[in-house]
Amino acid sequence: MLPQHVDHLVIGAGFAGIGAAIKLAEDGEHDVLVVEKGPDVGGTWRDNTYPGAACDVPSQLYSFSFAPNSDWSMSFSPQPEIQAYLQRVARDSGVLDRFVFDTTVEEARWDDGQQRWRVTTDRGVVLARTLISGAGGLSEPKLPDIDGIAGFQGELFHSARWDHDVDLAGKRVAVIGTGASAIQIVPELARTVAHLDVYQRTAPYVIPRNDRRYTRLERALFARFPALQKLYRTAIYWGRETYVPGFTLEPRLALPAKLLARHNLHRAVSDPELRARLTPTFEIGCKRILISNDYYPALAEDHVDLVTDRITKVTGDAVVTADGTERPVDVLVVATGFHTTDQPIAHHVIGRDGRSLAETWAEGGMAAYKGTTVHGFPNYFQIVGPNTGLGHSSMVFVIESQLAYLRDALRTMRTHRYATVEPRLDEQERWNADLQRRMQRTVWNTGGCSSWYLDEHGRNTVLWPRTTVDLRRRLARFDPPAYELSAARNDRVPA
Ligand code: NAP
Repeated sequence: MLPQHVDHLVIGAGFAGIGAAIKLAEDGEHDVLVVEKGPDVGGTWRDNTYPGAACDVPSQLYSFSFAPNSDWSMSFSPQPEIQAYLQRVARDSGVLDRFVFDTTVEEARWDDGQQRWRVTTDRGVVLARTLISGAGGLSEPKLPDIDGIAGFQGELFHSARWDHDVDLAGKRVAVIGTGASAIQIVPELARTVAHLDVYQRTAPYVIPRNDRRYTRLERALFARFPALQKLYRTAIYWGRETYVPGFTLEPRLALPAKLLARHNLHRAVSDPELRARLTPTFEIGCKRILISNDYYPALAEDHVDLVTDRITKVTGDAVVTADGTERPVDVLVVATGFHTTDQPIAHHVIGRDGRSLAETWAEGGMAAYKGTTVHGFPNYFQIVGPNTGLGHSSMVFVIESQLAYLRDALRTMRTHRYATVEPRLDEQERWNADLQRRMQRTVWNTGGCSSWYLDEHGRNTVLWPRTTVDLRRRLARFDPPAYELSAARNDRVPA
């Protein structure tokens, strides 16, 4: 049974939802409900179980600052370890009793009369004072729109919905896509399948993955001296931050990474024709820089083919390319990314004037104030909101920065007995105009590539165009002057 009303309803039980529940509890906010559509915590780390799934941000940084883990086995943790970490953090922090699983939010509608969010789930309706979305930017798989693909008779699945019942040994397998997911999948498949076709539309930059196993001594030292682990984490953080000027100010500053990627390719692939097809034609950083030691070597294997001709259609048992070649396939893996600038949750959150977030954003693209609150949507906080994404560092850092802002907003509401907070339209517009002005200089806009950072209008509504230090500073305090604030019309919680 769901409660009829709560103070705070959180959508999603990934890093954002778990972090929100923990931090709100620290502030004495215990009337919290976390609604999760899946059967467990973990979010994207629960869903992405494909072979080779691992984080491409070092684990020491890709974890909560308040829940360090001295037990990471590798510098880049495999997915099962991250999932186990999230399960453990949620359990040990004592907040799991606030979570409901296998429950889908169908609609969250602001009721201005009651100053509450009316959240309709497939298991009942809950009224909530604040709505916190931690639904995630990479949660809804994007399937490729390829002629005939619906009629494919073999096995077909998306990288984020891996079908572990399908035995790939000895099969002819095709992977569509060469993004961060695909380059982890391809080397693993190459070890088991009879033949692998990798369909590449755009060649990515791939630099070496400096992965290594932590020694027992290192792990013991991290456990014994938390300050040492913190220092290590800080060093990784600043190392990552050095990418920012090359991304946001002057692409030439990213030359060392470009040379590294070129070296990585030349070392692994000796065939000049294959090398040429694997050489990116855009500025480094425009798309996510990928890390792998075994992707290029896998492509150089005899039973693996890189296909760069455009896919024209999929038949019942083959993929057909523009040159007329038909390549038979038993299993088709689509590693074609996620709905990022058209997030499904946006269709389900309905604001003060009866319009959904998706409708509000239809013309100008996703926009929020400080990536967190949205005009027309009182008491709504979106963790990993518009323009809070990173191409170079840990999203957990961003999530914690946004949670600090949320907490201060709630503190302010408590102290001043505000019933609602909603960013002023002029402040939100100023924030976004400044962001987009800044964005003009970034490699994501000027680097000559198309990417999932850009929406249908060509606007980058996904990434943060400054340092993360800057983001953290701007989110450190809630800023009432930028908000419309209202007192409670009625202190009684409506039934
Ligand atoms: P992605 O980066 O969006 O890559 C999708 C790939 O599919 C691209 O190569 C794209 O080609 C290709 N593609 C899409 N539609 C296609 C079509 N119709 N025909 C042919 N090719 C098509 O998706 P992803 O690899 O799942 O990664 C998404 C994000 O998830 C990453 O950028 C990263 O932020 C995150 N991620 C992180 C990790 C990690 O280790 N932390 C691992 C995996 C993913 P184009 O390049 O030409 O568009």
